[in-house]
Amino acid sequence: MTVKQYYQDAYMKIFQTSIQEQQQDESGWYVVLEETAFYPTGGGQPHDTGIIKDKRITNVEEVNGEIRHYIEEPFKDISGVFEGQIDWERRFDHMQQHAGQHMLSAAFAGALQYETISFHLGKEILTIDLEVSDINESDALQAEALANRIIRESRPIETKWVTEAELSHYPLRKQPSVTDEIRLVIIPDFDYNGCGGTHPRSTSEVGAIKILDWEKHKGHIRLQFVCGDRVLNQLHRKHGLLKELTGVLQAPEENMVPTVERMLTKQKEQEKALDGLKEVLLTYEAEGLMGKATLKEGHSLIKSSYTDRRIQELQKIAQHIVSNKAEAIVFLVVQNDQKLQLVAAKGSIPGVNLREVAQKVFPLINGKGGGKETFVQGGGEAVMSREELLETLVNQL
Ligand SMILES: [Zn+2]
Repeated sequence: MTVKQYYQDAYMKIFQTSIQEQQQDESGWYVVLEETAFYPTGGGQPHDTGIIKDKRITNVEEVNGEIRHYIEEPFKDISGVFEGQIDWERRFDHMQQHAGQHMLSAAFAGALQYETISFHLGKEILTIDLEVSDINESDALQAEALANRIIRESRPIETKWVTEAELSHYPLRKQPSVTDEIRLVIIPDFDYNGCGGTHPRSTSEVGAIKILDWEKHKGHIRLQFVCGDRVLNQLHRKHGLLKELTGVLQAPEENMVPTVERMLTKQKEQEKALDGLKEVLLTYEAEGLMGKATLKEGHSLIKSSYTDRRIQELQKIAQHIVSNKAEAIVFLVVQNDQKLQLVAAKGSIPGVNLREVAQKVFPLINGKGGGKETFVQGGGEAVMSREELLETLVNQL
């Protein structure tokens, strides 16, 4: 049977062992060791990585009671003694995060009676789900301060094997899921918890705990935080970002928010001014088209075609023309990629129904549109040229 050495010594980085068997499953080649210090995925803690002799261990999983150490390629010969070595930086990070999670959950339970219902140890950050519908900043700071005080007090983190009958002697945060060989992880007078993970010897090794943010999630609060060296990494990265922003914005850190707010206000004003100028330009464009009107059966016919323009601009041009020239009939056509669109408008000319005109033309471009007798718009496919479409429209008058 495989002896889980990490239960006895979470600090064992190098160990000697023999290989019991080498096998292949759907995840690849793996070895089962006589003894191992590799931690398999479980209890919310990710697996270790490392090497055995000269082979990298990429994954460690407990399957049917055996601990499978997955290797990229099989050993040619599995006889003899092998040396295993754990990637210590990864393992110690997991120990800091995992123990930090115990402490933050205990702090929320102790200070505010908020129970932790689930947790996740991610690559960058950790989350716990608290059984409460909302929290405020002072709640979060209170629990964070308590957890950090326990760190500073360098309390021991002890482990103890107990029987189910002995459990009643301990104020457990929640009942363990196993019933025999129960392993308790104890921070005296603070946290008593059934857990099979790896932990440092002292709370001081967790270093620090920092809550980053929280959000409502399925009726609970999902809280993001980091522990240990990840606190420094977060500070380094966020400070770097802030420093870069002070350079880009040419504003000191403490003025950053008002500076960005000023920029956004200014941008909105400029956009508004630009919209006004565009409107003015469109009226000039409309005036220009009115100067090029041709006579057709007593009406002023104004037509023009474009590529890559918004139909809304064409609507504005047409509206400006017909509201200033009662005898005008306007046809404007635009091609955007493989799409042909048109706008037709008229002033107060009796006997001309632009909706009827357009309805005869839309089928020719596999299109559709709508409007009223005096103003129509619509579009279809570019199965004819813009000029052909204009001609077709004029011929329907
Ligand atoms: Zn634990």
